[in-house]
Amino acid sequence: MDIILKILLIVLIADFISGFVHWLEDAYAKPEMPLVGAIARENLLNHDKPRDFLKKNWWQSSYDLIALGFGILAIAWFVFGMMNGWLIFLVVLSVNANQIHKWAHQNRQEKPWLVSKLQDWNIMQGARQHGRHHRGEKNTYYCVMTNVLNPILEKVGFWVGIEKLILMITGVQRRQDAM
Ligand SMILES: [Zn+2]
Ligand SMILES: [Zn+2]
Repeated sequence: MDIILKILLIVLIADFISGFVHWLEDAYAKPEMPLVGAIARENLLNHDKPRDFLKKNWWQSSYDLIALGFGILAIAWFVFGMMNGWLIFLVVLSVNANQIHKWAHQNRQEKPWLVSKLQDWNIMQGARQHGRHHRGEKNTYYCVMTNVLNPILEKVGFWVGIEKLILMITGVQRRQDAM
């Protein structure tokens, strides 16, 4: 039981990280910025033409997250002397966020049978919930892995809340996208 709870917790942490990074990119990365500008442009393209990024293979859509994941593991090991299976599991899940996002956009013929089933069983996020992120101003439902966190975070106004807090403290407004 303990193990199942731990797995669940790690999955939810990975889901939250996927949402947090996605929110940062959508709310504060601007296309004209150095470095992160490329990510902002890619996300805007995904909002506009959600099927465009499906052409990428796993490596093409995950290499940047894999590099980041190795960086985090290296810091954990060399700076904090910390390394265990749970941390590795968290990193492995998190670096696959873009792949899981891609699966939510693909139809059944384009993805493995097991993935469709995991989505049917509400274990992995599928098109129905992820589609909500692509509606309107694209400023809700940022988490891409499960169906658990998004409804809760929207209910408590989590993203709007931290955007207000950031505006209050720093005066920085979230990015306004043309609809
Ligand atoms: Zn987005
Ligand atoms: Zn999407």
